[in-house]
Amino acid sequence: MTTTNGQAPFLSVNMYLGETKEYKEELAMLIEETLKQRIVGMKNEKGVYITPAFPKLLYVLEEDNVKPDSKYYYLTKLAAACTAKRMVPDYISEKIMKQLKIDKNGNGNCYPCMGCRSFLTPYVDKFGKPKYYGRFNQGVVTINLVDAALSSDKDMDKFWKILDERLELCHRALQIRHKRLSKVTSDVAPILWQYGAHARLKKGEPITPLLHGGYSTISLGYAGLYECVKYMTGNSHTDGGVGKEFGLKVMQILNDKCQKWKEEEDIDYSVYGTPIESTTYKFAKCLKDRFGVIKGITDRDYITNSYHIPVFEEIDAFEKLRIESEFQRLSPGGAISYVETANLSNNVDSVLAVIEFIYDNIMYAELNTKSDYCQVCGYDGEILIDENLEWYCPNCGNRDHSKLNVARRTCGYIGTNFWNKGRTQEIKERVIHLDNKDADL
Ligand SMILES: [Zn+2]
Repeated sequence: MTTTNGQAPFLSVNMYLGETKEYKEELAMLIEETLKQRIVGMKNEKGVYITPAFPKLLYVLEEDNVKPDSKYYYLTKLAAACTAKRMVPDYISEKIMKQLKIDKNGNGNCYPCMGCRSFLTPYVDKFGKPKYYGRFNQGVVTINLVDAALSSDKDMDKFWKILDERLELCHRALQIRHKRLSKVTSDVAPILWQYGAHARLKKGEPITPLLHGGYSTISLGYAGLYECVKYMTGNSHTDGGVGKEFGLKVMQILNDKCQKWKEEEDIDYSVYGTPIESTTYKFAKCLKDRFGVIKGITDRDYITNSYHIPVFEEIDAFEKLRIESEFQRLSPGGAISYVETANLSNNVDSVLAVIEFIYDNIMYAELNTKSDYCQVCGYDGEILIDENLEWYCPNCGNRDHSKLNVARRTCGYIGTNFWNKGRTQEIKERVIHLDNKDADL
């Protein structure tokens, strides 16, 4: 279940009661069993139950499962217990999503992301019916916003000009991806294009029509909004003032560009908070090479993901989600917000408080809890990172990666195979947004 060809299959399982009326009771039973099995976990090579990385679980919050007196609240309580122990499921608010994903018939839609965070645009088929399963994405090109800022020398006029040039460069790179796909026929992958995974085309038929008209999307990714805003304004985008205003303006420009390209080419360009799983380190190294070490901007081995509030900024869980929701709205091609927590296995009520807040405030969010294991001594608390960015067991001092089971949220997916230096530093510097001392909220 967790390995094929030696690698974990990148799968997400969506748990959405609202998807069916006819089989709702059966679906509720399936969701219950899936959550119960995940809480137990997967056996490692020592026979100890640990946190598996896949499949990722998604849980949709609805009117009939989020309120304590609602019919399916018992499932949400189970989901909260599962998150506390195994970091999943992640949560989609049906209420917020239906406000944001309006199709051309004027209806709000709720549907899962593809993978960890990529969201399709609203679409209705030729019969006027919404369609999400089977659609796809043509690829992503990511702009490093920090580089655009540093290239401007804090000159605002120059910044907007450079941003525009860089966005057109991304546009050209995206067109290359698109043009390459335009030459593809259904024969290259019959299961995808002929037997129904994406479409039922004839043999030899080009896939080009599926690249237009909104059936698929193509993503303009971005990274480092925080460092960009900090360098240009001196503030974080959490300041409720100039920083926030500037951050939102940058995000709006990315959206305006996508809209313009979409109208010109009939391709669904969409703004996407790229996961930059390992790229965070690459981007940080390139920035250091180009601009040297600038305090608070390039002095780390990573840059901040998408619109996120930086991992080292002290902020409580609710404030973080509230502020980030304003930026998530401007990242329609995908993004995920998270809060970092202490071990909440014995404090499921706190998880439920966050879940309820997500339902009313943000479309898509997750909690990063901790559950590690040392195979040498059996310690099952948090495995730590030392000053040299090496992982060690705080109980017995074991540093052998092959004998440590560490699960951390890398971005939207959980990683269990350790990380590069930049990502490891980022994990070390994550502040806790929700501690056990907040238990009586
Ligand atoms: Zn140990």
